[in-house]
Amino acid sequence: MDHLFGGVEAGGTKFVCAIGKHTGETVAHQEFPTTTPAETIANIIEFFRNNQPVSAIGIGSFGPVDLNPDSPTYGYITTTPKKDWRNIDMRGKIARALGVEVKISTDVICSGIGEYHYGSAQGLNNFLYMTIGTGIGGAQLLNGKPPQVTNHSEMGHIFVPHNMSVDPFPGVCPYHSDCLEGLASGLAMEKRAGQRAEEVIDPIRWDLEVRYLAFGLASLVNTLRPQKIILGGGIVKHGGLIEEVSLMLQELINNYIPIPEISMSSDLNAVRGAISLAASG
Ligand code: ZN
Repeated sequence: MDHLFGGVEAGGTKFVCAIGKHTGETVAHQEFPTTTPAETIANIIEFFRNNQPVSAIGIGSFGPVDLNPDSPTYGYITTTPKKDWRNIDMRGKIARALGVEVKISTDVICSGIGEYHYGSAQGLNNFLYMTIGTGIGGAQLLNGKPPQVTNHSEMGHIFVPHNMSVDPFPGVCPYHSDCLEGLASGLAMEKRAGQRAEEVIDPIRWDLEVRYLAFGLASLVNTLRPQKIILGGGIVKHGGLIEEVSLMLQELINNYIPIPEISMSSDLNAVRGAISLAASG
């Protein structure tokens, strides 16, 4: 019988747990809302106790996460803006309760691993996965793996030009105010418009969103030279957004180097990426 592996996609609004084979086929799946760390982690442990035993579990968590195995806080969620979740030993609590090996990475890295194995990044040796949701995060994957082992990128917190006379909004990042996440996340859209991001229809607000995302991506394209960019998260589902970001990216790069294709994530691959992380040697 094939070994089974567990995957946990730990997001800011919901957690997804699944059990599957290294081939990507899943045999159990459950979702629950993100509440307190105690309750949410208890739900994860209960899910794995109530299902078939797994050889290892992979977690793809919102961050920042300490990924350095030599650190005393390895596997902890650290300076997250979600105050209840700061300094939570996510990996250790689950590993101790279940007595299995638990590997941890970020949600965006696991989404990227999932796209590499099962989605639209198959065969690409250098691509960029970014999620534009309540927050913004990104990961470069080289041959299906992140380039760093002991830490992870913070692409949501790069800086983009902010013209205060056009957009006087100060930004929502608690650390930097008007970094990319501070200006272009779903939370920024919501605070600036005074309504939920998915309900915003004013084209001027979406033009601003396109501008910030294109500037952010231009810096990342110049730095990382990805063959493809895959965008996930609620904001990118807004009709025409990806096409407009792509056009503006082209304008900014101005034929200096080729522009990578931008496509939308399937949003189904993060937990499968976490299972792949668990199954990896
Ligand atoms: Zn920031």
